[in-house]
Amino acid sequence: MIDESSVAAGALAATGIPAEQVLAEVRQLRGADRPTHGGRLFAYVYDPAVAGLDDLTAAAHAESAHVNGLDPTAFPSLLAMENALVGAAARVLGAGPGSTAPDVVGSVTSGGTESLILAVKTARDARPEIAAPRIVVPSTGHAAFAKAAHYLRVTLDVVPVSPDTLRPDPAAMAAAIRPETVLVACSAPSYAHGVVDPVTEIAAAAAAAGVRCHVDACFGGWTLPYLRRLGQPVPPFDFAVPGVTSISVDLHKYAYAPKGVSVLLHRDATLRAPQYFAYADWPGYTMINPGLASTRSGGPIAAAYATVRHLGDDGYLRLAAATREAVAGLADAVRNVDGLRLMAEPESTVVCFTATDHGPDLFVLVDELTARGWHTQPQLSYAGLPASVHLTVTAAVAPRVAEFGPDLAEAVAAARSTGPVALAPELLALATSLTPDALTPDLVAGLAGGLGLGAGDGPTPDRMAVVNTLLDAAPPALRERLLVEFVSLLQCPSW
Ligand SMILES: *Cc1c(COP(=O)(O)O)cnc(C)c1O
Repeated sequence: MIDESSVAAGALAATGIPAEQVLAEVRQLRGADRPTHGGRLFAYVYDPAVAGLDDLTAAAHAESAHVNGLDPTAFPSLLAMENALVGAAARVLGAGPGSTAPDVVGSVTSGGTESLILAVKTARDARPEIAAPRIVVPSTGHAAFAKAAHYLRVTLDVVPVSPDTLRPDPAAMAAAIRPETVLVACSAPSYAHGVVDPVTEIAAAAAAAGVRCHVDACFGGWTLPYLRRLGQPVPPFDFAVPGVTSISVDLHKYAYAPKGVSVLLHRDATLRAPQYFAYADWPGYTMINPGLASTRSGGPIAAAYATVRHLGDDGYLRLAAATREAVAGLADAVRNVDGLRLMAEPESTVVCFTATDHGPDLFVLVDELTARGWHTQPQLSYAGLPASVHLTVTAAVAPRVAEFGPDLAEAVAAARSTGPVALAPELLALATSLTPDALTPDLVAGLAGGLGLGAGDGPTPDRMAVVNTLLDAAPPALRERLLVEFVSLLQCPSW
């Protein structure tokens, strides 16, 4: 029955599978995932819990899925939707007609990482005379800046943050600017702790040095303005701040659009010009791309357009109010448990806490919370900052808040009675003494086996404390190597 010449393997069946069965397969696979709805997953997903929104965005996505953003003249629908999204983002971020930034322009990208890579690339290419360009970023700046620096061969100058405020000292940011600096970056707010950097001072220092300043508002750009309208004190961070030359905001975060959409804004078109890549020196079509991808699906853009149109300004205000209430409730729950403390008073939509000296082991606590249906995000200790637990709070969390406090108290009690993970001495020795280069594939396979991460079966997310404890004991360079090796064990073709 099987054709001798068949190459069928993995997803490629020898004979096509009926649609219903394929869908059943997808749904079955999805069953292993963490829940994207229900307000119990505090990372990765942003859920407004608005009835009917998923159906609307799915329909809009389907309408434009095969449209190609490669050529805006062939598909003016996409250009129109992108321009509308850029206009909306600019308005939310203090720009547009009648503002102090009337000439703002922007592009839709696939996500925050692409927005940041493009911000760095644009700044780099605006200064072609600088042979070895550098960027200045606070240590709490998103890892995507490091990725941009790596991809673009730009040197990253990292300015530490104060362990108390979790913000960089503007004077230290200013002092880090060198003649080769092409960009100074800061966050509004930082992902890890949800605090807003001193944007006014940092942007002023950048402007005084004649350097661009990017505000990474990927996380909070769509909520901080609404929180401010609700009466929360939000420091200036947007285009109203002189010296801010570009801002990124992820629509797939607090604009509640499905994945794949962010916006990168520049104060004017001249600042944006080096972002484009154009090429006419080959026999094919002349290419002009604002972003990293060339062919791009219209699906995510149409879905984001539908989301923003449907929720509207009043909708976002309402969702920000619900989120704010949830943040306050979760922060209270943390304050009410002995052994935990907030890393910072919440000023955006993040609740981040750590353990006190006599508190529970945080990684065990994370597992105990998982066992109770709460999916939180552990953050490893770093440069004088303790390990912490991050909660990204969205509107969907609001109805769950009352259940969180008792479960948190219970999980802390359980973590206390379990005690911290005792790493096998040989594992601990490896983690603290090994240099990244000394990690051989055999060693990694042994480690993975010892941690219960056998090749083929993924890590069991309900008992991650051992893995987190091991990673936490290792310096960053070894953490990176271990992660690469572990993930490359997971990423193997299925036949
Ligand atoms: C999420 C995030 C990014 C990266 O965005 P992706 O969409 O995951 O690529 C960058 N900066 C901040 C502050 C973020 O929260």
